[in-house]
Amino acid sequence: SPNETPETQIDGNLLIAQSLFRAGVRVMFGVVGIPVTSLANRAVSLGIRFIAFHNEQSAGYAASAYGYLTGSPGILLTVSGPGCVHGLAGLSNSTINCWPMVMISGSCDQKDIGKGDFQELDQIQAVKPFVKHSVKVTDIKHVPQDVKTVLNQSVFGRPGACYLDVPSDVLHQTVTESVADELLTKSDENEILEGKLGNLEIDKAVSLLRNAKRPLTVIGKGAAFARAEDSLKRFVERTGIPFLPTPMGKGLLPDTHELAATAARSLAIGQCDVAVVVGARLNWLLHFGEPPKWSEDVKFILVDVSKEEVELRKPCVGLLGDAKRVLDRINLEIKDDPFCLGRTHPWIQAITKKSKENVSRMEVQLAKDVVPFNFLTPMRIIRDAILAQGTPAPILVSEGANTMDIGRAVLVQTEPRTRLDAGTWGTMGVGLGYCIAAAVASPDRLVVAVEGDSGFGFSAMEVETLVRYQLPVVVIVFNNGGVYGGDRRNPEEIAGPYKDDPAPTSFVPGAAYHTLIEAFGGKGYLVGTPEELKSALTESFSARKPTVINVTIDPYAGSESGRMQHKN
Ligand code: ADP
Repeated sequence: SPNETPETQIDGNLLIAQSLFRAGVRVMFGVVGIPVTSLANRAVSLGIRFIAFHNEQSAGYAASAYGYLTGSPGILLTVSGPGCVHGLAGLSNSTINCWPMVMISGSCDQKDIGKGDFQELDQIQAVKPFVKHSVKVTDIKHVPQDVKTVLNQSVFGRPGACYLDVPSDVLHQTVTESVADELLTKSDENEILEGKLGNLEIDKAVSLLRNAKRPLTVIGKGAAFARAEDSLKRFVERTGIPFLPTPMGKGLLPDTHELAATAARSLAIGQCDVAVVVGARLNWLLHFGEPPKWSEDVKFILVDVSKEEVELRKPCVGLLGDAKRVLDRINLEIKDDPFCLGRTHPWIQAITKKSKENVSRMEVQLAKDVVPFNFLTPMRIIRDAILAQGTPAPILVSEGANTMDIGRAVLVQTEPRTRLDAGTWGTMGVGLGYCIAAAVASPDRLVVAVEGDSGFGFSAMEVETLVRYQLPVVVIVFNNGGVYGGDRRNPEEIAGPYKDDPAPTSFVPGAAYHTLIEAFGGKGYLVGTPEELKSALTESFSARKPTVINVTIDPYAGSESGRMQHKN
Protein backbone atom coordinates (compact mmCIF):
# COMPACT_ATOMS: atom_id res chain seq x y z
CA SER A 1 0.00 0.00 0.00
CA PRO A 2 1.19 3.56 -0.61
CA ASN A 3 1.75 4.15 3.14
CA GLU A 4 4.32 1.41 3.62
CA THR A 5 8.00 2.45 3.46
CA PRO A 6 9.50 0.93 0.35
CA GLU A 7 11.90 -1.94 0.97
CA THR A 8 15.63 -1.18 0.74
CA GLN A 9 17.03 -1.81 -2.71
CA ILE A 10 20.36 -3.53 -3.21
CA ASP A 11 22.37 -2.95 -6.37
CA GLY A 12 24.70 -5.30 -8.23
CA ASN A 13 27.81 -3.81 -6.63
CA LEU A 14 26.58 -4.50 -3.13
CA LEU A 15 25.21 -7.92 -3.98
CA ILE A 16 28.54 -9.04 -5.44
CA ALA A 17 30.32 -7.79 -2.32
CA GLN A 18 27.82 -9.61 -0.12
CA SER A 19 28.18 -12.80 -2.13
CA LEU A 20 31.97 -12.68 -1.85
CA PHE A 21 31.87 -12.00 1.88
CA ARG A 22 29.38 -14.78 2.48
CA ALA A 23 31.63 -17.20 0.60
CA GLY A 24 34.50 -16.35 2.95
CA VAL A 25 36.41 -13.78 0.88
CA ARG A 26 38.25 -11.33 3.16
CA VAL A 27 40.85 -9.84 0.82
CA MET A 28 40.71 -8.45 -2.71
CA PHE A 29 43.45 -7.01 -4.90
CA GLY A 30 42.87 -4.68 -7.78
CA VAL A 31 42.63 -1.32 -9.46
CA VAL A 32 39.36 0.58 -9.29
CA GLY A 33 37.70 2.80 -11.88
CA ILE A 34 34.61 2.69 -14.11
CA PRO A 35 32.48 0.68 -13.43
CA VAL A 36 33.76 -1.13 -10.30
CA THR A 37 34.71 1.60 -7.79
CA SER A 38 31.53 1.20 -5.82
CA LEU A 39 32.01 -2.58 -5.75
CA ALA A 40 35.38 -2.09 -4.01
CA ASN A 41 33.93 0.42 -1.55
CA ARG A 42 31.01 -1.87 -0.76
CA ALA A 43 33.38 -4.77 -0.19
CA VAL A 44 35.44 -2.71 2.25
CA SER A 45 32.31 -1.62 4.10
CA LEU A 46 31.43 -5.28 4.65
CA GLY A 47 34.84 -6.17 6.09
CA ILE A 48 36.81 -7.22 3.03
CA ARG A 49 40.28 -5.72 2.82
CA PHE A 50 40.86 -4.10 -0.57
CA ILE A 51 44.50 -3.71 -1.55
CA ALA A 52 44.57 -1.07 -4.28
CA PHE A 53 47.45 -1.33 -6.77
CA HIS A 54 48.81 0.86 -9.53
CA ASN A 55 48.63 -1.83 -12.21
CA GLU A 56 46.35 -4.83 -12.65
CA GLN A 57 49.29 -6.98 -13.67
CA SER A 58 50.90 -6.75 -10.23
CA ALA A 59 47.54 -6.98 -8.51
CA GLY A 60 46.86 -10.15 -10.51
CA TYR A 61 50.19 -11.66 -9.52
CA ALA A 62 49.31 -10.82 -5.93
CA ALA A 63 45.93 -12.55 -6.23
CA SER A 64 47.54 -15.67 -7.67
CA ALA A 65 50.13 -15.92 -4.89
CA TYR A 66 47.48 -15.23 -2.26
CA GLY A 67 45.57 -18.25 -3.59
CA TYR A 68 48.67 -20.41 -3.24
CA LEU A 69 49.56 -19.19 0.24
CA THR A 70 46.07 -19.39 1.74
CA GLY A 71 44.48 -22.22 -0.23
CA SER A 72 41.47 -20.02 -1.02
CA PRO A 73 41.11 -18.17 -4.31
CA GLY A 74 42.83 -14.79 -4.51
CA ILE A 75 40.47 -12.17 -5.91
CA LEU A 76 41.45 -9.59 -8.53
CA LEU A 77 39.09 -6.73 -9.34
CA THR A 78 39.60 -4.79 -12.56
CA VAL A 79 37.87 -2.26 -14.74
CA SER A 80 36.64 -3.14 -18.21
CA GLY A 81 38.65 -3.45 -21.46
CA PRO A 82 42.28 -2.51 -20.72
CA GLY A 83 41.91 -3.38 -17.02
CA CYS A 84 40.81 -6.87 -17.98
CA VAL A 85 43.67 -7.15 -20.50
CA HIS A 86 46.27 -6.16 -17.90
CA GLY A 87 44.71 -8.71 -15.56
CA LEU A 88 45.33 -11.53 -18.04
CA ALA A 89 48.90 -11.71 -16.73
CA GLY A 90 47.59 -12.70 -13.30
CA LEU A 91 45.09 -15.18 -14.72
CA SER A 92 47.69 -16.93 -16.84
CA ASN A 93 50.14 -16.99 -13.93
CA SER A 94 47.56 -18.64 -11.70
CA THR A 95 46.54 -21.27 -14.17
CA ILE A 96 50.09 -22.18 -15.22
CA ASN A 97 51.15 -22.55 -11.56
CA CYS A 98 47.91 -24.38 -10.58
CA TRP A 99 46.91 -21.73 -8.03
CA PRO A 100 43.29 -20.70 -7.36
CA MET A 101 42.28 -17.18 -8.33
CA VAL A 102 39.20 -15.34 -9.53
CA MET A 103 39.31 -12.21 -11.65
CA ILE A 104 36.20 -10.05 -11.53
CA SER A 105 36.05 -7.41 -14.23
CA GLY A 106 33.47 -4.80 -15.00
CA SER A 107 32.42 -4.75 -18.65
CA CYS A 108 30.40 -2.46 -20.87
CA ASP A 109 26.64 -2.15 -20.86
CA GLN A 110 25.03 -5.23 -22.46
CA LYS A 111 22.73 -3.15 -24.66
CA ASP A 112 25.66 -1.23 -26.17
CA ILE A 113 27.81 -4.22 -27.12
CA GLY A 114 28.99 -3.93 -30.73
CA LYS A 115 28.52 -0.17 -30.93
CA GLY A 116 31.98 0.80 -29.71
CA ASP A 117 31.06 1.43 -26.10
CA PHE A 118 33.56 2.80 -23.54
CA GLN A 119 36.27 0.14 -23.00
CA GLU A 120 34.29 -2.41 -24.98
CA LEU A 121 35.85 -5.85 -25.30
CA ASP A 122 34.56 -9.40 -25.51
CA GLN A 123 36.20 -10.20 -22.19
CA ILE A 124 34.89 -13.76 -21.99
CA GLN A 125 36.72 -14.44 -25.25
CA ALA A 126 39.86 -12.62 -24.08
CA VAL A 127 40.28 -14.67 -20.90
CA LYS A 128 39.54 -18.00 -22.58
CA PRO A 129 43.08 -19.37 -22.97
CA PHE A 130 43.92 -18.62 -19.34
CA VAL A 131 40.98 -19.82 -17.27
CA LYS A 132 39.40 -23.05 -16.12
CA HIS A 133 35.96 -21.52 -16.17
CA SER A 134 34.30 -18.17 -16.86
CA VAL A 135 30.83 -16.75 -16.30
CA LYS A 136 29.15 -13.59 -17.55
CA VAL A 137 26.52 -12.33 -15.13
CA THR A 138 23.57 -11.35 -17.32
CA ASP A 139 21.13 -10.39 -14.58
CA ILE A 140 21.49 -9.28 -10.96
CA LYS A 141 19.43 -12.28 -9.85
CA HIS A 142 22.25 -14.57 -10.96
CA VAL A 143 24.93 -12.80 -8.92
CA PRO A 144 25.12 -15.01 -5.79
CA GLN A 145 25.06 -18.23 -7.79
CA ASP A 146 27.61 -17.03 -10.37
CA VAL A 147 30.02 -15.75 -7.70
CA LYS A 148 29.84 -19.09 -5.92
CA THR A 149 30.44 -21.00 -9.14
CA VAL A 150 33.68 -19.22 -10.04
CA LEU A 151 35.02 -19.42 -6.50
CA ASN A 152 34.29 -23.14 -6.32
CA GLN A 153 35.65 -23.93 -9.75
CA SER A 154 38.95 -22.21 -9.05
CA VAL A 155 39.79 -24.60 -6.19
CA PHE A 156 38.10 -27.72 -7.51
CA GLY A 157 40.45 -30.48 -8.73
CA ARG A 158 43.57 -28.88 -10.14
CA PRO A 159 43.42 -25.29 -8.90
CA GLY A 160 43.56 -22.45 -11.42
CA ALA A 161 42.06 -19.17 -12.53
CA CYS A 162 38.37 -18.41 -13.10
CA TYR A 163 36.73 -15.27 -14.43
CA LEU A 164 33.52 -13.40 -13.60
CA ASP A 165 32.31 -10.78 -16.07
CA VAL A 166 29.99 -8.14 -14.66
CA PRO A 167 28.42 -5.77 -17.19
CA SER A 168 27.86 -2.27 -15.86
CA ASP A 169 24.09 -2.52 -16.30
CA VAL A 170 24.06 -5.52 -13.94
CA LEU A 171 26.09 -3.55 -11.40
CA HIS A 172 23.38 -0.89 -11.47
CA GLN A 173 20.37 -3.21 -11.46
CA THR A 174 18.61 -3.55 -8.11
CA VAL A 175 16.65 -6.12 -6.15
CA THR A 176 14.92 -5.72 -2.82
CA GLU A 177 16.78 -6.77 0.30
CA SER A 178 14.49 -9.75 0.84
CA VAL A 179 15.03 -11.02 -2.69
CA ALA A 180 18.78 -10.58 -2.22
CA ASP A 181 18.65 -12.58 1.03
CA GLU A 182 16.74 -15.35 -0.67
CA LEU A 183 19.25 -15.52 -3.52
CA LEU A 184 22.20 -15.53 -1.13
CA THR A 185 20.71 -18.30 0.97
CA LYS A 186 20.03 -20.36 -2.11
CA SER A 187 23.62 -19.99 -3.30
CA ASP A 188 24.82 -21.62 -0.06
CA GLU A 189 23.63 -24.93 -1.47
CA ASN A 190 26.23 -24.68 -4.20
CA GLU A 191 28.97 -26.41 -2.23
CA ILE A 192 31.56 -28.64 -3.79
CA LEU A 193 31.98 -31.81 -1.86
CA GLU A 194 35.45 -33.20 -1.61
CA GLY A 195 35.59 -36.26 -3.80
CA LYS A 196 36.31 -39.66 -2.34
CA LEU A 197 39.69 -41.06 -3.15
CA GLY A 198 39.22 -43.65 -5.84
CA ASN A 199 40.60 -47.15 -5.80
CA LEU A 200 44.26 -46.34 -5.53
CA GLU A 201 47.03 -48.79 -6.25
CA ILE A 202 48.62 -48.01 -2.90
CA ASP A 203 49.94 -51.53 -2.42
CA LYS A 204 51.58 -51.48 -5.84
CA ALA A 205 53.26 -48.17 -5.06
CA VAL A 206 54.47 -49.33 -1.67
CA SER A 207 55.79 -52.58 -3.06
CA LEU A 208 57.75 -50.66 -5.72
CA LEU A 209 59.27 -48.47 -3.02
CA ARG A 210 59.97 -51.40 -0.77
CA ASN A 211 61.92 -53.17 -3.50
CA ALA A 212 63.69 -50.12 -4.84
CA LYS A 213 67.46 -49.90 -4.52
CA ARG A 214 67.66 -46.15 -4.99
CA PRO A 215 64.27 -44.58 -4.24
CA LEU A 216 63.66 -40.83 -4.29
CA THR A 217 60.77 -38.57 -3.30
CA VAL A 218 60.28 -35.43 -5.37
CA ILE A 219 58.09 -32.79 -3.77
CA GLY A 220 56.55 -29.88 -5.61
CA LYS A 221 54.43 -26.85 -4.95
CA GLY A 222 51.27 -28.94 -5.46
CA ALA A 223 52.21 -30.76 -2.23
CA ALA A 224 52.80 -27.39 -0.60
CA PHE A 225 49.39 -26.22 -1.77
CA ALA A 226 47.89 -29.41 -0.33
CA ARG A 227 49.55 -28.66 3.03
CA ALA A 228 51.05 -32.12 2.94
CA GLU A 229 54.07 -31.28 5.11
CA ASP A 230 53.15 -33.42 8.13
CA SER A 231 52.28 -36.41 5.99
CA LEU A 232 55.50 -36.00 4.03
CA LYS A 233 57.51 -35.79 7.21
CA ARG A 234 56.00 -39.04 8.43
CA PHE A 235 56.60 -40.68 5.06
CA VAL A 236 60.23 -39.64 4.89
CA GLU A 237 60.90 -40.58 8.50
CA ARG A 238 59.18 -43.93 8.14
CA THR A 239 60.89 -44.93 4.90
CA GLY A 240 64.24 -43.13 5.12
CA ILE A 241 63.83 -42.23 1.43
CA PRO A 242 65.74 -39.07 0.47
CA PHE A 243 63.74 -36.18 -0.93
CA LEU A 244 64.30 -33.55 -3.57
CA PRO A 245 62.16 -30.42 -3.48
CA THR A 246 61.39 -28.38 -6.59
CA PRO A 247 62.15 -24.65 -6.15
CA MET A 248 58.83 -23.90 -4.46
CA GLY A 249 58.67 -27.32 -2.85
CA LYS A 250 61.63 -26.10 -0.78
CA GLY A 251 60.69 -25.76 2.88
CA LEU A 252 57.93 -28.39 2.93
CA LEU A 253 60.62 -30.34 4.73
CA PRO A 254 63.55 -28.23 5.92
CA ASP A 255 66.45 -27.80 3.49
CA THR A 256 68.64 -28.71 6.45
CA HIS A 257 67.04 -32.18 6.86
CA GLU A 258 69.59 -35.00 6.71
CA LEU A 259 67.63 -36.71 3.92
CA ALA A 260 67.46 -33.58 1.73
CA ALA A 261 69.02 -34.40 -1.63
CA THR A 262 68.96 -30.79 -2.86
CA ALA A 263 72.73 -30.47 -2.96
CA ALA A 264 73.02 -33.83 -4.75
CA ARG A 265 70.30 -33.13 -7.30
CA SER A 266 72.00 -34.51 -10.42
CA LEU A 267 73.04 -37.69 -8.68
CA ALA A 268 69.62 -38.22 -7.10
CA ILE A 269 67.75 -37.68 -10.36
CA GLY A 270 70.26 -39.50 -12.51
CA GLN A 271 70.52 -42.64 -10.44
CA CYS A 272 67.22 -43.19 -8.66
CA ASP A 273 65.36 -46.32 -9.78
CA VAL A 274 61.95 -45.45 -8.31
CA ALA A 275 60.77 -41.88 -7.87
CA VAL A 276 57.59 -40.92 -6.09
CA VAL A 277 56.66 -37.49 -7.41
CA VAL A 278 54.21 -35.61 -5.21
CA GLY A 279 52.48 -32.49 -6.54
CA ALA A 280 55.08 -31.68 -9.17
CA ARG A 281 54.83 -31.91 -12.94
CA LEU A 282 57.47 -33.75 -14.91
CA ASN A 283 57.87 -30.65 -17.07
CA TRP A 284 61.00 -28.69 -18.08
CA LEU A 285 61.88 -28.00 -14.45
CA LEU A 286 62.23 -31.76 -13.91
CA HIS A 287 63.70 -32.47 -17.35
CA PHE A 288 60.44 -34.14 -18.45
CA GLY A 289 61.37 -37.19 -16.40
CA GLU A 290 63.46 -38.33 -19.37
CA PRO A 291 67.05 -39.35 -20.11
CA PRO A 292 69.77 -38.16 -20.04
CA LYS A 293 69.03 -36.43 -16.73
CA TRP A 294 66.94 -39.35 -15.47
CA SER A 295 67.89 -42.93 -16.02
CA GLU A 296 66.20 -44.79 -18.86
CA ASP A 297 64.35 -47.29 -16.65
CA VAL A 298 63.35 -45.14 -13.66
CA LYS A 299 59.85 -46.01 -12.47
CA PHE A 300 57.64 -43.08 -11.53
CA ILE A 301 54.90 -43.10 -8.93
CA LEU A 302 52.93 -39.93 -9.58
CA VAL A 303 50.72 -38.38 -6.91
CA ASP A 304 48.60 -35.64 -8.45
CA VAL A 305 45.11 -34.25 -8.15
CA SER A 306 44.82 -33.88 -11.91
CA LYS A 307 43.69 -36.82 -14.02
CA GLU A 308 45.06 -35.16 -17.18
CA GLU A 309 48.47 -34.84 -15.60
CA VAL A 310 48.59 -38.50 -14.64
CA GLU A 311 47.41 -39.54 -18.11
CA LEU A 312 49.94 -37.28 -19.81
CA ARG A 313 52.98 -38.61 -17.97
CA LYS A 314 51.99 -42.30 -18.04
CA PRO A 315 53.76 -43.15 -14.79
CA CYS A 316 54.32 -46.70 -13.62
CA VAL A 317 51.78 -45.99 -10.87
CA GLY A 318 49.45 -43.01 -10.88
CA LEU A 319 47.83 -42.08 -7.58
CA LEU A 320 45.07 -39.64 -8.34
CA GLY A 321 44.05 -37.45 -5.43
CA ASP A 322 44.99 -34.81 -2.94
CA ALA A 323 48.65 -35.15 -1.97
CA LYS A 324 48.03 -35.14 1.77
CA ARG A 325 45.29 -37.74 1.64
CA VAL A 326 47.22 -40.02 -0.69
CA LEU A 327 50.35 -39.81 1.46
CA ASP A 328 48.31 -40.63 4.54
CA ARG A 329 47.09 -43.76 2.78
CA ILE A 330 50.66 -44.71 1.86
CA ASN A 331 51.81 -44.08 5.43
CA LEU A 332 49.04 -46.29 6.73
CA GLU A 333 50.03 -49.09 4.37
CA ILE A 334 53.68 -48.87 5.42
CA LYS A 335 52.90 -48.72 9.11
CA ASP A 336 51.87 -52.38 9.24
CA ASP A 337 55.08 -53.59 7.64
CA PRO A 338 57.69 -50.86 8.10
CA PHE A 339 60.91 -50.52 6.18
CA CYS A 340 63.55 -47.86 6.48
CA LEU A 341 66.70 -47.43 4.43
CA GLY A 342 68.84 -46.25 7.32
CA ARG A 343 72.03 -44.22 7.26
CA THR A 344 74.31 -47.08 6.26
CA HIS A 345 72.33 -47.91 3.13
CA PRO A 346 74.65 -47.41 0.11
CA TRP A 347 72.16 -45.09 -1.64
CA ILE A 348 71.85 -42.84 1.39
CA GLN A 349 75.59 -42.82 1.82
CA ALA A 350 76.12 -41.90 -1.82
CA ILE A 351 73.67 -39.01 -1.58
CA THR A 352 75.03 -37.79 1.75
CA LYS A 353 78.59 -37.90 0.49
CA LYS A 354 77.77 -36.02 -2.71
CA SER A 355 75.74 -33.42 -0.79
CA LYS A 356 78.56 -32.80 1.64
CA GLU A 357 81.08 -32.39 -1.18
CA ASN A 358 78.89 -29.94 -3.07
CA VAL A 359 77.97 -27.98 0.02
CA SER A 360 81.56 -27.58 1.15
CA ARG A 361 82.66 -26.52 -2.35
CA MET A 362 79.93 -23.87 -2.35
CA GLU A 363 80.78 -22.76 1.19
CA VAL A 364 84.35 -22.03 0.17
CA GLN A 365 83.04 -19.63 -2.48
CA LEU A 366 80.42 -18.18 -0.16
CA ALA A 367 82.91 -17.52 2.62
CA LYS A 368 84.82 -14.98 0.52
CA ASP A 369 83.96 -11.33 0.86
CA VAL A 370 84.15 -10.19 -2.76
CA VAL A 371 83.92 -6.41 -3.35
CA PRO A 372 82.63 -5.01 -5.68
CA PHE A 373 79.94 -7.56 -4.94
CA ASN A 374 79.52 -10.70 -7.01
CA PHE A 375 76.23 -12.55 -6.44
CA LEU A 376 77.51 -14.94 -3.80
CA THR A 377 78.79 -12.60 -1.14
CA PRO A 378 75.58 -10.58 -0.66
CA MET A 379 73.51 -13.78 -0.98
CA ARG A 380 75.40 -15.37 1.91
CA ILE A 381 74.88 -12.30 4.07
CA ILE A 382 71.16 -12.30 3.24
CA ARG A 383 70.90 -16.04 3.93
CA ASP A 384 72.40 -15.62 7.37
CA ALA A 385 70.21 -12.62 8.19
CA ILE A 386 67.07 -14.53 7.16
CA LEU A 387 68.07 -17.61 9.17
CA ALA A 388 68.74 -15.43 12.22
CA GLN A 389 65.04 -14.46 12.16
CA GLY A 390 64.07 -17.96 13.38
CA THR A 391 60.35 -18.82 13.47
CA PRO A 392 58.05 -17.86 11.95
CA ALA A 393 60.46 -17.79 9.05
CA PRO A 394 60.27 -14.86 6.65
CA ILE A 395 58.60 -15.44 3.29
CA LEU A 396 61.17 -15.17 0.53
CA VAL A 397 60.23 -13.73 -2.86
CA SER A 398 62.79 -14.31 -5.55
CA GLU A 399 63.09 -13.40 -9.20
CA GLY A 400 65.74 -12.55 -11.73
CA ALA A 401 68.16 -14.66 -13.78
CA ASN A 402 71.37 -14.99 -11.77
CA THR A 403 69.76 -13.55 -8.66
CA MET A 404 67.09 -16.26 -8.62
CA ASP A 405 69.36 -19.13 -9.65
CA ILE A 406 72.03 -18.34 -7.12
CA GLY A 407 69.43 -17.49 -4.51
CA ARG A 408 67.80 -20.89 -4.94
CA ALA A 409 71.07 -22.62 -4.24
CA VAL A 410 72.18 -20.43 -1.35
CA LEU A 411 69.07 -19.31 0.52
CA VAL A 412 67.68 -21.83 2.99
CA GLN A 413 64.00 -22.67 3.42
CA THR A 414 62.94 -24.22 6.71
CA GLU A 415 59.15 -23.81 6.63
CA PRO A 416 56.51 -24.71 4.04
CA ARG A 417 55.26 -22.10 1.55
CA THR A 418 57.97 -19.60 2.40
CA ARG A 419 59.39 -19.36 -1.09
CA LEU A 420 57.71 -17.61 -4.03
CA ASP A 421 59.61 -17.34 -7.29
CA ALA A 422 59.18 -16.96 -11.04
CA GLY A 423 57.51 -20.38 -11.10
CA THR A 424 56.48 -22.67 -13.91
CA TRP A 425 56.65 -20.02 -16.63
CA GLY A 426 59.74 -18.25 -15.32
CA THR A 427 57.64 -15.10 -15.05
CA MET A 428 59.62 -11.95 -14.32
CA GLY A 429 57.74 -9.06 -12.77
CA VAL A 430 55.94 -11.07 -10.10
CA GLY A 431 58.06 -9.71 -7.25
CA LEU A 432 56.19 -6.76 -5.79
CA GLY A 433 52.78 -8.39 -6.26
CA TYR A 434 54.01 -11.52 -4.47
CA CYS A 435 55.49 -9.44 -1.65
CA ILE A 436 52.20 -7.66 -1.07
CA ALA A 437 50.22 -10.91 -1.20
CA ALA A 438 52.61 -12.60 1.23
CA ALA A 439 52.47 -9.73 3.71
CA VAL A 440 48.67 -9.66 3.59
CA ALA A 441 48.29 -13.45 3.77
CA SER A 442 50.78 -13.92 6.63
CA PRO A 443 50.78 -10.78 8.80
CA ASP A 444 53.05 -12.46 11.36
CA ARG A 445 55.87 -13.00 8.90
CA LEU A 446 58.48 -10.67 7.55
CA VAL A 447 58.65 -10.67 3.74
CA VAL A 448 62.03 -10.46 2.05
CA ALA A 449 62.35 -10.08 -1.72
CA VAL A 450 65.66 -10.81 -3.41
CA GLU A 451 65.30 -9.47 -6.92
CA GLY A 452 67.31 -8.61 -9.95
CA ASP A 453 67.03 -4.96 -10.99
CA SER A 454 65.16 -5.91 -14.14
CA GLY A 455 62.63 -8.03 -12.24
CA PHE A 456 62.12 -5.18 -9.80
CA GLY A 457 61.57 -2.68 -12.60
CA PHE A 458 58.46 -4.45 -13.90
CA SER A 459 56.42 -3.25 -10.97
CA ALA A 460 58.66 -0.91 -9.02
CA MET A 461 55.85 1.66 -8.62
CA GLU A 462 54.14 -0.77 -6.26
CA VAL A 463 56.67 0.26 -3.59
CA GLU A 464 54.15 3.05 -3.02
CA THR A 465 51.56 0.35 -2.26
CA LEU A 466 53.96 -1.14 0.31
CA VAL A 467 54.28 2.24 1.99
CA ARG A 468 50.57 3.06 1.82
CA TYR A 469 49.61 -0.14 3.64
CA GLN A 470 52.78 -0.13 5.79
CA LEU A 471 53.58 -3.74 4.94
CA PRO A 472 56.61 -5.42 6.57
CA VAL A 473 58.43 -5.98 3.29
CA VAL A 474 62.14 -5.58 2.61
CA VAL A 475 62.95 -5.55 -1.10
CA ILE A 476 66.60 -6.23 -1.88
CA VAL A 477 67.54 -5.22 -5.42
CA PHE A 478 70.63 -6.81 -6.94
CA ASN A 479 71.57 -3.88 -9.11
CA ASN A 480 73.93 -4.81 -11.92
CA GLY A 481 72.63 -2.26 -14.38
CA GLY A 482 70.36 -4.33 -16.58
CA VAL A 483 68.87 -7.59 -17.73
CA TYR A 484 71.72 -10.04 -17.03
CA GLY A 485 73.79 -6.92 -16.24
CA GLY A 486 75.28 -4.35 -18.54
CA ASP A 487 76.26 -4.69 -22.18
CA ARG A 488 77.32 -8.24 -22.99
CA ARG A 489 77.07 -8.10 -26.78
CA ASN A 490 79.60 -9.71 -29.08
CA PRO A 491 81.38 -7.10 -31.24
CA GLU A 492 79.61 -8.38 -34.40
CA GLU A 493 76.22 -7.71 -32.76
CA ILE A 494 77.05 -4.01 -32.42
CA ALA A 495 76.29 -2.46 -35.83
CA GLY A 496 73.69 -0.45 -37.76
CA PRO A 497 72.37 3.09 -37.33
CA TYR A 498 71.42 2.55 -33.66
CA LYS A 499 74.64 0.92 -32.56
CA ASP A 500 75.28 3.79 -30.16
CA ASP A 501 71.98 3.24 -28.33
CA PRO A 502 72.29 1.47 -24.99
CA ALA A 503 72.29 -2.33 -25.36
CA PRO A 504 68.83 -3.92 -25.13
CA THR A 505 69.97 -5.55 -21.89
CA SER A 506 71.26 -2.45 -20.14
CA PHE A 507 69.67 0.11 -17.84
CA VAL A 508 71.01 3.39 -16.53
CA PRO A 509 74.12 2.35 -14.59
CA GLY A 510 74.03 3.00 -10.87
CA ALA A 511 70.26 3.59 -10.81
CA ALA A 512 69.21 4.92 -7.39
CA TYR A 513 66.37 2.45 -6.81
CA HIS A 514 66.46 3.08 -3.07
CA THR A 515 65.25 6.64 -3.64
CA LEU A 516 62.07 5.38 -5.34
CA ILE A 517 60.62 4.24 -2.04
CA GLU A 518 61.90 7.35 -0.27
CA ALA A 519 59.72 9.40 -2.61
CA PHE A 520 56.73 7.92 -0.75
CA GLY A 521 58.15 8.02 2.76
CA GLY A 522 59.59 4.52 2.86
CA LYS A 523 63.13 3.62 3.85
CA GLY A 524 65.91 3.24 1.28
CA TYR A 525 69.50 2.00 1.58
CA LEU A 526 72.32 2.01 -0.94
CA VAL A 527 74.93 -0.62 -0.09
CA GLY A 528 78.11 -1.87 -1.69
CA THR A 529 80.09 -3.57 1.07
CA PRO A 530 79.41 -6.46 3.46
CA GLU A 531 79.26 -4.10 6.46
CA GLU A 532 76.78 -1.77 4.76
CA LEU A 533 74.57 -4.69 3.71
CA LYS A 534 74.66 -6.31 7.14
CA SER A 535 73.71 -3.11 8.88
CA ALA A 536 70.89 -2.36 6.41
CA LEU A 537 69.50 -5.87 6.94
CA THR A 538 69.72 -5.68 10.72
CA GLU A 539 67.94 -2.34 10.79
CA SER A 540 65.24 -3.13 8.27
CA PHE A 541 64.48 -6.65 9.55
CA SER A 542 63.87 -5.32 13.02
CA ALA A 543 61.98 -2.20 11.86
CA ARG A 544 59.61 -4.33 9.70
CA LYS A 545 58.74 -1.33 7.58
CA PRO A 546 58.62 -0.98 3.79
CA THR A 547 62.23 -0.85 2.64
CA VAL A 548 64.28 -1.04 -0.54
CA ILE A 549 67.94 -2.04 -0.24
CA ASN A 550 69.79 -1.19 -3.44
CA VAL A 551 72.78 -3.52 -3.62
CA THR A 552 75.46 -2.53 -6.10
CA ILE A 553 76.66 -5.64 -7.95
CA ASP A 554 79.57 -5.85 -10.36
CA PRO A 555 77.85 -5.68 -13.80
CA TYR A 556 80.18 -8.36 -15.11
CA ALA A 557 79.52 -10.86 -12.34
CA GLY A 558 77.19 -13.77 -13.16
CA SER A 559 76.33 -15.07 -16.62
CA GLU A 560 73.78 -14.03 -19.22
CA SER A 561 70.46 -15.92 -18.73
CA GLY A 562 71.75 -17.58 -15.57
CA ARG A 563 71.64 -21.36 -15.99
CA MET A 564 69.22 -21.01 -18.94
CA GLN A 565 72.00 -19.83 -21.26
CA HIS A 566 71.40 -22.63 -23.78
CA LYS A 567 67.86 -21.33 -24.48
CA ASN A 568 68.81 -17.67 -25.22
P1 ADP B 1 56.62 -27.58 -9.23
O1 ADP B 1 56.74 -26.29 -9.98
O2 ADP B 1 56.87 -27.43 -7.78
O3 ADP B 1 57.37 -28.68 -9.87
P2 ADP B 1 54.11 -27.95 -10.57
O4 ADP B 1 53.38 -26.66 -10.55
O5 ADP B 1 54.80 -28.32 -11.81
O6 ADP B 1 55.08 -28.01 -9.30
O7 ADP B 1 53.11 -29.10 -10.24
C1 ADP B 1 52.13 -29.00 -9.26
C2 ADP B 1 51.21 -30.19 -9.46
O8 ADP B 1 50.48 -30.36 -8.26
C3 ADP B 1 50.20 -29.99 -10.58
O9 ADP B 1 50.28 -31.05 -11.50
C4 ADP B 1 48.85 -30.00 -9.85
O10 ADP B 1 47.85 -30.66 -10.58
C5 ADP B 1 49.18 -30.73 -8.59
N1 ADP B 1 48.33 -30.42 -7.45
C6 ADP B 1 47.69 -29.27 -7.13
N2 ADP B 1 47.00 -29.39 -6.00
C7 ADP B 1 47.24 -30.64 -5.55
C8 ADP B 1 46.81 -31.39 -4.42
N3 ADP B 1 46.01 -30.85 -3.49
N4 ADP B 1 47.24 -32.65 -4.30
C9 ADP B 1 48.05 -33.22 -5.23
N5 ADP B 1 48.47 -32.57 -6.31
C10 ADP B 1 48.08 -31.29 -6.47
